Amino acid sequence: MSKISFADYRLSPEIVRALEGLGYTEPTEVQREVIPAALEKKDLTVKSQTGSGKTAAFGIPICELVEWEENKPQALILTPTRELADQVKEDITNIGRFKRIKATAVYGKQPFARQKAELKQKSHVVTGTPGRVLDHIEKGTLDLSRMKYLVLDEADEMLNMGFIDQVEAIINELPKNRMTMLFSATLPEDVEKLCYKYMKSPVDIEIQSKVSTADRIDHSLFIVREEEKFQLLKDVTIVENPDSCIIFCRTQEQVDRIYQQLDRLDYPCDKIHGGMSQDDRFAVMNEFKRGEFRYLVATDVAARGIDIENITHVINYDLPMEKESYVHRAGRTGRAGRTGKAISFVTPYEEKFLSDIEAYIGLDIQRKDAPSKEEVSTKKDEFEEKLNSMPELKADKNEQLNQEIMKLYFNGGKKKKIRAVDFVGTIAKIEGVNAEDIGIITIQDNVSYVDILNGKGPLVLKEMKRTTVKGKQLKVHEAFKK
Ligand code: AMP
Repeated sequence: MSKISFADYRLSPEIVRALEGLGYTEPTEVQREVIPAALEKKDLTVKSQTGSGKTAAFGIPICELVEWEENKPQALILTPTRELADQVKEDITNIGRFKRIKATAVYGKQPFARQKAELKQKSHVVTGTPGRVLDHIEKGTLDLSRMKYLVLDEADEMLNMGFIDQVEAIINELPKNRMTMLFSATLPEDVEKLCYKYMKSPVDIEIQSKVSTADRIDHSLFIVREEEKFQLLKDVTIVENPDSCIIFCRTQEQVDRIYQQLDRLDYPCDKIHGGMSQDDRFAVMNEFKRGEFRYLVATDVAARGIDIENITHVINYDLPMEKESYVHRAGRTGRAGRTGKAISFVTPYEEKFLSDIEAYIGLDIQRKDAPSKEEVSTKKDEFEEKLNSMPELKADKNEQLNQEIMKLYFNGGKKKKIRAVDFVGTIAKIEGVNAEDIGIITIQDNVSYVDILNGKGPLVLKEMKRTTVKGKQLKVHEAFKK
């Protein structure tokens, strides 16, 4: 059988080109199932794990289907966490780069006014957490009249986090004539109810999750008393010597405690939990993504949908209470075809949770004895060596893409009656530049930003210093990146 490529779908050249740039050569399993059905605007319920390429599975058809000319938002993507909202926005921006799709993320703990100003601009796609999205709807700052596509991403998590009422309130505000796609790692009863209630004879797609969990992730566990966990953590990390590891704890206090203890032992580590400010959470996540430290101590906040490459180990310092969380946590490793290990610490009192988890994932998790003293001491040198060596930094896929892109700032916008077409008309006339080299254009009241693609930024910058836009000479310089 010949391989399917993205060019086999009815996708415009701008989207195919962006996918090439992202290094997506062939669709993943979930994309093979979802893209053709979504392009036909069918309602879909998709059971699949994060790490399967599900964001692009809905991102590609959405970027294809939205009409560039429409000024009001056409697609709404609801996610359980702010990090995921932001990541989905990035993914959509990358996929829609050459079609100049503008995506905006809205979530709590960030100034409402800033988001309001961004929503006033042309936004094709809006991503966000239910609470803040509802806030914008109620205050009239998010126009739903042209919404044609709704995605409920990680629906099970949204329900787990108690967002059901807000999600339903949002759905009730949306035009009836829309397409809805629901993605969920698991399909608990409440999620199914949501599907029946709000979707039109949805196509059910199920991607075999067991294969990916069992084949790519090596699950094991230690039975251990609470007071012996930290010693076990030290021994396990020495023996396993991970390149990149998330240690999950049940509470914020526990995260703080374990982080402090590891930090004192000079582990290259940091922490993340819901009690930290959003800016701090983003900063920690970005540093971890780049591989600046090896151990991230986290609550479940970090388990939801976050896409970080090459996490080799997930350690459940505390076993999750919900079986679904186990799947989410373990799914942080073994991504994009790689292998990984999920190691759980289970206290004797937690056997019940454990049997729920095992039944749920359809796997008997291998029980192991704590590493012996001899084993720990033979592995110690190697461990110390890695502890003291700088991790190799991972290239951020956005940074790679952005190298080819220069964002230009102009000191004129709506108040000077400047529109996107004015920039396109002017810039595309520069010799050696054409409309395909122009990316996302953002026009605000007094300033505008234009992305110049394909390494043509310096040329456009030079020329625009002596070229007028709509008869006006604007100040131009490279924008300071947000
Ligand atoms: P997700 O399930 O959306 O969190 O995606 C998991 C990872 O797979 C992300 O790093 C994507 O960039 C990557 N990915 C998505 N689709 C493809 C594809 N067709 N080929 C290669 N990598 C992909």
